Amino acid sequence: MRSTMQDAPLLIRDMVRHGQWMYADKRVFTATPTGTVHETFARVAERAERLAGALAALGVQRDDRVATLMWNNQSHMEVYLAVPSMGAVLHTLNVRLFPDQLAYIINHADDRVIIVDASLVPLLARIKDQIAGVRHFIVNGPLEDPPFALIDYQEIVAAHEPGYDWPDLDERDAAVMCYTSGTTGEPKGVVYSHRSIWLHSLASTSANSIALSDRDRCLLVVPMFHVAAWGAVYTSFMAGTELIMPQMFLQGEPLLNMIMELRPTVALGVPTIWNDLLRAAGGRSDADLSSLRMILAGGAAVPRFMIEAFRERHGVDVLQGWGMTETSPLVAVSMPPAGVSREHEIDYRVKAGRVMAGVQIRITDENGAVLARDGVATGEFELRGPWITARYYGVDAPELFRDGWLRTGDIGTLDPHGFMVITDRAKDMIKSGGEWISSVALETTVMGQDGVFEAAVIAVPDDRWQERPLCVVVRGSESTVSAEELREFLRPSVAKWWLPEHWSFVDAIPKTSVGKFDKRALRRLYAEGQLEVETLE
Ligand code: AMP
Repeated sequence: MRSTMQDAPLLIRDMVRHGQWMYADKRVFTATPTGTVHETFARVAERAERLAGALAALGVQRDDRVATLMWNNQSHMEVYLAVPSMGAVLHTLNVRLFPDQLAYIINHADDRVIIVDASLVPLLARIKDQIAGVRHFIVNGPLEDPPFALIDYQEIVAAHEPGYDWPDLDERDAAVMCYTSGTTGEPKGVVYSHRSIWLHSLASTSANSIALSDRDRCLLVVPMFHVAAWGAVYTSFMAGTELIMPQMFLQGEPLLNMIMELRPTVALGVPTIWNDLLRAAGGRSDADLSSLRMILAGGAAVPRFMIEAFRERHGVDVLQGWGMTETSPLVAVSMPPAGVSREHEIDYRVKAGRVMAGVQIRITDENGAVLARDGVATGEFELRGPWITARYYGVDAPELFRDGWLRTGDIGTLDPHGFMVITDRAKDMIKSGGEWISSVALETTVMGQDGVFEAAVIAVPDDRWQERPLCVVVRGSESTVSAEELREFLRPSVAKWWLPEHWSFVDAIPKTSVGKFDKRALRRLYAEGQLEVETLE
C-alpha cells in the first residue's frame, strides 16, 4: 500500500515565501565601515524577487551556476534566496583561496555568472583571463576604475519588478554547491538539493540541536562561503531568526562591539574566532556578552578551557557542533542530555556532539568492520542520511565512500547515547611506537594553560618511535611560559608517553581559509626547517 499523504516537494522558494510573510518585520543587520544597516525580511525577499528577474534577463536558466564571491552581508543573503528559488544553482566561492584554486573551482563548476563584492574585485581581476566560461560579472558596492566590465548589482535589482514567478521544481534538483577547503588534493564540489537543505534547516530548529527560532538573533560569523553558512540563512527564513552579518570585520574587538550593540542571542563560528573574542572581552572592563544564550563553536575541536571561560567569565554556554562540507554540515551538537547536572554538563559540551535524527552513523576499523558504540572502540566515523553527500560533483572518489556511507576521515569513539568524541583526523594522527597519540587531546589541553593563546600538534619523524608529537604554541601577550612548564601542565592529563618533548614557540599558527589550524602548512614549515624547535630531555 502506498500512502495518499501529500508529496508536495520541499523547495527553497517556499521557505522564502514563509519568512517573507510570517516574519515580514524580522531584520537582517549588516556591518559597514560607517555603522550597521538593516532591512526587513519582507524587503529582502522582495529584493530577491527583483534579483531573480534581473538574472533571468541576463539569460540565467535552470541549473545554471551563479557564483558569489562575497562577505556575509544582506546582498549575499538576497542571492542565497533568489538563485535556488529560480531553479539555478548558487555556488559560494571562498574569498580566501589562492587565485589559481579559485579559477580551478569556477571552471570546474562551470559558473556562468559571478556576483562579487566591490572589495573583492581585485582578487577576481587576477584570474579574469583564466575563467572564459563566465558570461557576466555583477559587482555589489561602488567601485572606482573597474578593471573589467561589471554590471551594478544595486542598479539591476532596482530596475526589475518584484513578484518573480518562482517555478515548480523537483525537490532533488541542485540548489547550492560548495567546494571543500581542499586540505588534500584538489578541492571537491558538494551539491545540496532543495530537499537536503530543507531537512537540514528543520533539524537546526529542533530543540535537541540549536533550536533556532523567532526569539533568536544570530551573529553569523561563519562565512557564507563555508558550507553555506552552516545552513543558517535558510533556517533564519524558516524560523524567523534575525541575522547579523559582520562582513569582513571578523576580529575579536569588532565582534565584541557588534554583540554589545545588537545583542544577539546566538553566535555561530569556528573556535579560533571565539578564542579571539575571549581575548578581546578580557581586555575590556565593560565587556557584556549577556545577550547570548549560546555560542555554537564547530568546524574544529573546542578546548575545554574555552567552554569554561565563556561560562565562568561571561555566563555564556558554548555548544559544540560537528560537521563537514559533505554533511551540510550539521551532524551532531553537544547538547547535554536531560537530567545532567549543571556541574557535569561540561563533560558533554567538550564532546563533538550527539547525532541528530536523520543522520545514521557508525565507526569502522581499517578493514571496514563496524565497531561497538561503547565509548571505547576507536575508528573512523562513517555517515549516511538525507543531508549527507553520497558523491562529489564531477569526480570519482570511490575511496571516500563505503557501501553508500561517507567516510569522514575523522577518528574517534561513539558512546551508547550517540555522542561523538573526535581524537584525530586520519591524516593528522601521530603513531608513536605503534600506538596512537591524539593530537586533539594534546592541543585542547595545552590551550587551557595560562599564557597560551593557541596550540597545534603535528607528528614529526623520530628514529626510535617512528613519530613523535611536536607542539607548536602561540604565547599570550606578555606570557613567558616555557616548554617545561607546559609539559608539567600536561602531565596529569595524558599518558606519560604522550608528553611531547618537541616544542616550538611562534607568533602565529597558519590557518586554513576557514580559520582552522592548517597542519599541512605547519608540517611544511617543519620540513623546510623554518620552525625553531626546542627538544626537552
Ligand atoms: P570542513 O569541510 O572544512 O568544514 O571540515 C570538516 C572537518 O572539520 C571535519 O571532518 C573535522 O575534521 C573537523 N571538525 C568539524 N567539527 C569538529 C569538531 N567539533 N571537533 C573536531 N573536529 C571538527
